[in-house]
Amino acid sequence: MNDEPNSGEGGGTVDVLIPLGLDQAYSYAVPEGLALRPGDVVQVPLGPRETVGVVWSLGSGRGGNLKRVTGRVDMPPLDPALMKLVDWVAWYTLAPKGSVLALALRRQPDDTPERPKLGVRLVGAPPARMTPARARAIAAAEGGLLTGKAALAEAASVSMAVIDSLVDAGTFSVEALPRDAVAAMPDPDHAQPVLSEGQAAAAKELVASVQAAAYGVTLLEGVTGSGKTEVYFEAVAQAIRQGRQSLILMPEIALTAQFIDRFEARFGVRPGLWHSAVTGRKRERLQAAIASGEARVVAGARSALFLPYRDLGLIVVDEEHEAAYKQEDGVSYHARDMAVVRGRIENAPVILTSATPSLETRVNAERGRYTHLKLPERFGGRELPTLGLVDLRQDKPERGRWISAALIKAIGDNLEAKEQSLLFLNRRGYAPLTLCRDCGHRFQCPNCSAWLVDHRFRRALVCHHCGHVERRPHECPACHATESLSACGPGVERLAEEVATLFPQARGIVLSSDFPGGTERLKQELMAVASGEFDIVIGTQLVAKGHNFPGMTLVGVVDADLGLTSGDPRAAERTFQVLRQVTGRAGRGERPGRALLQTHDPGHPVLKALISGDPERFYAAETASREAAGLPPFGRLAGLIVSANTAAEAEGHARALARCADAPDGVSVLGPAEAPLAVLRGRHRVRLIVKTTREVNLQDYLRAWLKRGPKPKGSVRVAVDVDPQSF
Ligand code: ADP
Ligand code: ZN
Repeated sequence: MNDEPNSGEGGGTVDVLIPLGLDQAYSYAVPEGLALRPGDVVQVPLGPRETVGVVWSLGSGRGGNLKRVTGRVDMPPLDPALMKLVDWVAWYTLAPKGSVLALALRRQPDDTPERPKLGVRLVGAPPARMTPARARAIAAAEGGLLTGKAALAEAASVSMAVIDSLVDAGTFSVEALPRDAVAAMPDPDHAQPVLSEGQAAAAKELVASVQAAAYGVTLLEGVTGSGKTEVYFEAVAQAIRQGRQSLILMPEIALTAQFIDRFEARFGVRPGLWHSAVTGRKRERLQAAIASGEARVVAGARSALFLPYRDLGLIVVDEEHEAAYKQEDGVSYHARDMAVVRGRIENAPVILTSATPSLETRVNAERGRYTHLKLPERFGGRELPTLGLVDLRQDKPERGRWISAALIKAIGDNLEAKEQSLLFLNRRGYAPLTLCRDCGHRFQCPNCSAWLVDHRFRRALVCHHCGHVERRPHECPACHATESLSACGPGVERLAEEVATLFPQARGIVLSSDFPGGTERLKQELMAVASGEFDIVIGTQLVAKGHNFPGMTLVGVVDADLGLTSGDPRAAERTFQVLRQVTGRAGRGERPGRALLQTHDPGHPVLKALISGDPERFYAAETASREAAGLPPFGRLAGLIVSANTAAEAEGHARALARCADAPDGVSVLGPAEAPLAVLRGRHRVRLIVKTTREVNLQDYLRAWLKRGPKPKGSVRVAVDVDPQSF
């Protein structure tokens, strides 16, 4: 690539990539006097509009009759590493390069100026008229410190009007509070923990990998409660000491209040937080701080991968096995895999942590591609919970009930001992299906091939796929029978009803993503659970991971078979992971924990491996069966979803595609067949699956195929999903 800036003098041109669903960069002429380099953000005409794009390369052509670049945009240029990442992700996922660029260039158009928060300071003489409330407010402001208005009002137990009246009287002055720092400097020695021997050994290796300042991947595998966070914090501390930046990717950053507290306890300040709820100017400021290198540690959701770090010295992917790392809409990339790619591009070490690593990562570790560090014991000599199965064929709850006698007894004992219990059921809402007992009518989503889920809190029937909501009627819409509607199967809300009947004295709470009041409330309730304010938590996968509930000593899995019955090649792995994670919530505090898993199939290999307490047993069996079937990571997979407004159009296009699949040796194309959600948001979906050996270049094959295949017409769309996570 020619690195001399191109300017208009020689009639130079540049190729500009536009952050829209386009694959190619467009050539523009460079106006005289403007010197451009790759990475520069520019304004260009596109059709009748002006748009922002990035100079991707310098053209060799003459500007002749090309449209001209309008000008440079006042934004830091994309650095070569980030451009390389965009190229790489686009190549790997087959997403249009412009769509990937949009991830890196995401600017929220927000022209509203950031309103400064106001504080008050005691400056003047006492007011002419003194009241008890005023006296309290003045006393609370003693010392002349600048205090937030609301905080002062609260501290003095007075209304805001009292504060305002003292401002009017000249007793208080009003000043803008300093803006929240987006990137305070963490102190690597703020509060160093005393590590156990095993922890110290692992930390030492991680620190060495940061010191080496070279690409390399380490899997930090440690049982729940082994202190993985404390251990990788040592690597982060080392990066801070070296003046370099760290990125900590987390699957669900919005709920990680505990993580942030721990980070602050360790480093004295909060990390820079990047997720979709950080908006507007704050987002812009953080982005600038990341680009300048001022933000030393960023904790973020998967999109943090595309931020413009100035000097990335470490990437941590926390809970690397989490399905949330896979983005399903738009550019379908796996943030863990792309983190490894970014590490390679930046020549930085990558740490993957998990108590239940993905099979891909385990195999990479076993083959020596990744360094494998293990923390086999819980911190502080705590034992892993003892696990037991409840055979539902023998211990059968009565009709309309889901908790077995054995589990009821265990919860009762726990209540008596004043310890907390968690009931885990990975089903949101009240009941997964509602039907009419008289005519058999079932409530289905009008837009999707899915049942509507009864949500009693919201008094609505909801589609979990498209968000369609309707009121739960009083009579059957088909036969008009009244009081004939019946809930089928349990969701967490219904389970909570059962718990309330069984244990009316217990303080129970339902925690799922439907929690009223949104993320903030949910965060508070998770803290309340941690501090022991509830006896029984009824929760979905939301409570299964990451959280530390010291008083939790019993975990009851209501339906351990849920998830094992799907035809998904990852069903066993996912179930193993979620069950090991959720049972790992028990016994993290002073007292030992136990878990009971209700099942109809106690002989299932996944459950047997889980009960044995030896994860190697599961990994060995699962590795063997994947290898025998040629499934990832031993073979490669991609899904092609063909969707259209009608089933006929979708099927027609998929069949035409299949006819020119031309699969060479090592490639098989399966389908077309109805996709698992045959209708989603009103679109009919048909799927083709491509399975190849590892030797085949899957991306090259897919590109060539789509190129020779028919072009989608009318409402037809083809979405490619490389390495699909679920089927
Ligand atoms: P994991 O992520 O492996 O499940 P955590 O990092 O959450 O484990 O640690 C579990 C608990 O043990 C946390 O409360 C943590 O603060 C505590 N802990 C772990 N290691 C140490 C240590 N070396 N000193 C003090 N507390 C520790
Ligand atoms: Zn729907």
